[in-house]
Amino acid sequence: MNRIGNGNRLAGHGLRHEGRYWTGFRYVSGGMAPGVCECGTKSDPLPSAAARQRWHREHKNKIRKEQP
Ligand SMILES: [Zn+2]
Repeated sequence: MNRIGNGNRLAGHGLRHEGRYWTGFRYVSGGMAPGVCECGTKSDPLPSAAARQRWHREHKNKIRKEQP
């Protein structure tokens, strides 16, 4: 298996702000918002940072499968 980076990180695919989002004056983890990856992929709106982190894990798994 050819891992890029270490642990669960994948180069070029960081989850923006660990799933928190900017309300206009601060970052919050709750509330409906899409997860946004560094590669530009966005999820559907999700209810919490934990849900966005779950989405991002799945997103990275998919990328890993597509890479040779
Ligand atoms: Zn990505």
